[in-house]
Amino acid sequence: MLAPTKAQVKPAQLFIAGRFVPSASGETFDSINPATGAVLTQVAQAGPTDIDAAVKAAREAFESGPWPKMSVSARGRLLWKIGDLIMKRREEIAELETLDSGKPLTDNARIDVPMAADCFQYYAGWATKIHGRTIPSSGPYFNFTLREPVGVVGAIIPWNFPFLMAAWKLAPALCAGNTAVLKPAEQTPLTAVLLGEILAEAGVPEGVVNIVTGDGPGAGAALVRHPGVDKIAFTGSTPVGQEILRASADTLKRVSLELGGKSPSLVFADADMEQAVRGATTGIFYNEGQICTAASRLFVESSVHESFMEALGRRTAKMVAGDPLDPKCRFGPLVSEAQMSRVLRYIGIGRDEGAKLVAGGGKARVEGGGGFYVEPTIFDGVRNDMTIAREEIFGPVLAVIPFDDPEEAVRQANDNPYGLAAAVWTRDIKKAHSVARRLRAGTVWINTVNALESTTPFGGYKMSGFGRELGEASLDLYTQTKSVWVDLS
Ligand code: NAP
Ligand code: MG
Repeated sequence: MLAPTKAQVKPAQLFIAGRFVPSASGETFDSINPATGAVLTQVAQAGPTDIDAAVKAAREAFESGPWPKMSVSARGRLLWKIGDLIMKRREEIAELETLDSGKPLTDNARIDVPMAADCFQYYAGWATKIHGRTIPSSGPYFNFTLREPVGVVGAIIPWNFPFLMAAWKLAPALCAGNTAVLKPAEQTPLTAVLLGEILAEAGVPEGVVNIVTGDGPGAGAALVRHPGVDKIAFTGSTPVGQEILRASADTLKRVSLELGGKSPSLVFADADMEQAVRGATTGIFYNEGQICTAASRLFVESSVHESFMEALGRRTAKMVAGDPLDPKCRFGPLVSEAQMSRVLRYIGIGRDEGAKLVAGGGKARVEGGGGFYVEPTIFDGVRNDMTIAREEIFGPVLAVIPFDDPEEAVRQANDNPYGLAAAVWTRDIKKAHSVARRLRAGTVWINTVNALESTTPFGGYKMSGFGRELGEASLDLYTQTKSVWVDLS
């Protein structure tokens, strides 16, 4: 595969009303390559004026023009075509994502980009299957419901799966007939802008999707406050989710929130140990731990704890940080210097609170240097009330908590403000199902981890947010129901 040169990365502009334009202020910010720390290119910095233009374009496209008149089957075909075009440009998207985010190229090409295409094609099928009901009435009436789009959707997404998160928001929103303004994270704006090119090429009418690059306080907050936006779909941290919920109260927007996590993984003594060790490593080290579902608290039954830790140590030692553009690389840099500092600070807190560092613990050295690399890090002998077991680190740091009593382990697994995901490792089918039922999390994996498909609802319990994305469930977020009464007397 040909690694692209810096010269091939174009400066990024805003995509408003079907055209690429600079920001009204002319201001830009730098996009950084996390593998080197070097500036990749400049990106237009949207402010309230640009957000207003984007929302107006989305409103106009929602109310007039070809979009509201388009037949549902034509809409479905359009979504399918977007998926096809994504797959046609798969390597280019994967490379750009790697340069901008530091995510390993192989993961982007094999997982993120195909899953994004699949998401558009999954919702292509739903475009023709969203319908209301006929409802019996006790009076002389004919009563039926219509399922209508919500209107203009403001989608705000994070940096850990930039391209895929854009698909998770836009595909169901478009499938139901909404229009959208998408704000990618400032650390990773480039593939969202490229998606704008793809949408235009597919024939999405102008103004139906607008893409505004900028920061949270300037661009994101203006989108949340804007009275022309009907709904905010947000993925990101819990504190920003809370801020968005507060800020959206004035205009009473519909809000869905996919937030942070501190997911427990329970390894029982009767588990397939090889499988559980593999799951424990990918559970925390995939995407360098920058996953909202990261299995960052690992509860291990005491009788197998020692042998489990030996095997985990051997497997972790093989996870060597490298250049994410190298197709063999499975562990790259973190997204930014700020994220690296945050993770290193938590590692310091783990040490100070008396957890036992058994792997990693510092910056990883990679040939060429300069990037934001942290070693795969494991703490053993962690207690569930320690900071590293309570707070989301969003990096490659695993907290291992040994247990004797399975009941107590389930209780502790639930004893955390978050509830996004959880995993159970056992060969006992009764135990697997009963523990899965008792775990307070939106997703539970039995003898696997990170399984995810466009078909299946995904979202949080407790402080991990509300609303379910993907699957049929996502249609609830992007439609509203109208009851129509007809007098038959
Ligand atoms: P973040 O700081 O919450 O940012 C997420 C998005 O919100 C970014 O686009 C950000 O813009 C924007 N934003 C920031 N402040 C805002 C404000 N006041 N109003 C409106 N928008 C604002 O999260 P992150 O650091 O990018 O991502 C990591 C976090 O996301 C983790 O905590 C992780 O658990 C969570 N996450 C959750 C899921 C899930 O599905 N539940 C998935 C992925 C990530 P800027 O980046 O430009 O500031
Ligand atoms: Mg970047």
